[in-house]
Amino acid sequence: MIWTLVSAVCGVHLDKKRKKELLREFKQKELAEARRKMCLWPDQLRSLHAFLAEQRFGLGIACDHPLGRTKEWIQLEGLDREKVLESLGEFGGYCDCEVYFNVTRDKFGWPEQDSAAD
Ligand SMILES: [Zn+2]
Repeated sequence: MIWTLVSAVCGVHLDKKRKKELLREFKQKELAEARRKMCLWPDQLRSLHAFLAEQRFGLGIACDHPLGRTKEWIQLEGLDREKVLESLGEFGGYCDCEVYFNVTRDKFGWPEQDSAAD
């Protein structure tokens, strides 16, 4: 009877630990997959967000047309437009505000170093 109790307790413990491991594994795979689909580097994504924040909130320009400011930024950075837009679209960034609110650094496991400035 006591052994049943012990193994039951251990079973629960192991199960929880294994579950946590699996969850972490899953999360790592998910992040790796996300980074594979994203052609921008962490710094570039941060730069794009800063640009959008300045354009949208600083100058008070509304999101009038899809990806207008994002395309402006791509041109300024001299990046491959199709490639970047495809990457952003993978994460729900189909207009400037969606890029700002949906394509966030945490989706790729990149720390928000300057979250205080956002
Ligand atoms: Zn928008």
